[in-house]
Amino acid sequence: MTNLLTILLVLFFSLNTYSHGSAGSIPNDETSNRAINFPDTKQYKTLVTDLHTHSVFSDGHVWPNIRVGEALRDGVDVLAVTEHLEYQPHRADIPNPDRNKSFIEAKAAAGNSDILVINGSEITRNMPPGHINAVFIKDANKLVKVDPSKEEEAQAELAKRLDEMRGRDRKVVDFFALASMWPPEEAIQAANDQDAFVFWNHPMWGSQKSDGIAELMPMHKDLIEKGLLHGIEVVNGEGYSEEAFQIAIDNNLAVIGTSDVHNLIDWDYKPHLGGHRPVTLVFANSKREDSVKDALKDRRTVIWFKNTLFGLKRNMQPLLKASLSIESASYNNRTQILGVNIKNNSDVVFLLKNKSDFTFTNSEDLVEVPAQGTKYLGVKTITRLNLLELDFEVLNALEAPKVTSKLTLKKRVN
Ligand SMILES: [Zn+2]
Ligand SMILES: [Zn+2]
Repeated sequence: MTNLLTILLVLFFSLNTYSHGSAGSIPNDETSNRAINFPDTKQYKTLVTDLHTHSVFSDGHVWPNIRVGEALRDGVDVLAVTEHLEYQPHRADIPNPDRNKSFIEAKAAAGNSDILVINGSEITRNMPPGHINAVFIKDANKLVKVDPSKEEEAQAELAKRLDEMRGRDRKVVDFFALASMWPPEEAIQAANDQDAFVFWNHPMWGSQKSDGIAELMPMHKDLIEKGLLHGIEVVNGEGYSEEAFQIAIDNNLAVIGTSDVHNLIDWDYKPHLGGHRPVTLVFANSKREDSVKDALKDRRTVIWFKNTLFGLKRNMQPLLKASLSIESASYNNRTQILGVNIKNNSDVVFLLKNKSDFTFTNSEDLVEVPAQGTKYLGVKTITRLNLLELDFEVLNALEAPKVTSKLTLKKRVN
């Protein structure tokens, strides 16, 4: 009897162990529909990307498979887990000799699923240049260099910044100081030698820029001049920088928005309550790695942050045209009131301001078009038209700081 009980118990516990899935697997979620959805443009596939996230392999709090699981739920097409190369707060518990490890783990977790996981790292320095992400890299280990002979110099540098480092693990801080001795220009060059796409992270971050104003310093200008810096975060997590947007426009940098998530996406962005992580929409020929990189290097991006889009006119206009259309337009009986249905194929709740001479029977000039939905307008055209043209200002699509998009919707009248 005792033996039988033991056997049953062993069986129970071993089944239970397996039923929790193996390490690195992705738990299923059949309960929510939170995938981010944007239509393809006439010319390109619209890919949802998050190119800046963290795991326990630097200062994040989850294993890389969780990043992949979240991304799959969020409909993210392209994901990078970009660990700090120099700042390794878990190094006592999770030694990280191969800096490609989080990518390897994330890629394995993705398995055959429909997500493109790319290799990337965060080159982490004080300002300048601050933090720099390199994605589509081939070997993260080549982007970090530790020279023990620089120990004294590193400690002298550290002594100047003890206030910033207070409360942090001394070994972690010592390693950061020593690894920071490698000139950042050389690390960024090494990323470019791997044909990476390189962008400046959170240039508005108060810890590195106390006034919160993103501003190019000589080192950034030099990197841009040499073609070594290709993008800039205009949005990072909860932060938006109008100045960074202008820097992107003035210097032909890709506008990038990322989650920079360290905790859980669900905690930070509450998708179950209708929230979403910031993403960069990339307009690419296909979801292949080379094609996505080409698109980024060609600056074909629009950011979706909260309920606003940010992007250059040449990228924004095709997205708006793919997202908004007049589905139907027909006159009500013998009236001159045209019943119009405006359709929205995107996840943005569009805020349109009427710029036509027409007035509406059921709305003032501010028209809200629901995400993935339709808005009815009764348009008073005075005379019966064959072709309707409605001019709008899109209040939550910005093509430059304080510059909203314009959009004309046209439809033959039935
Ligand atoms: Zn950073
Ligand atoms: Zn980061």
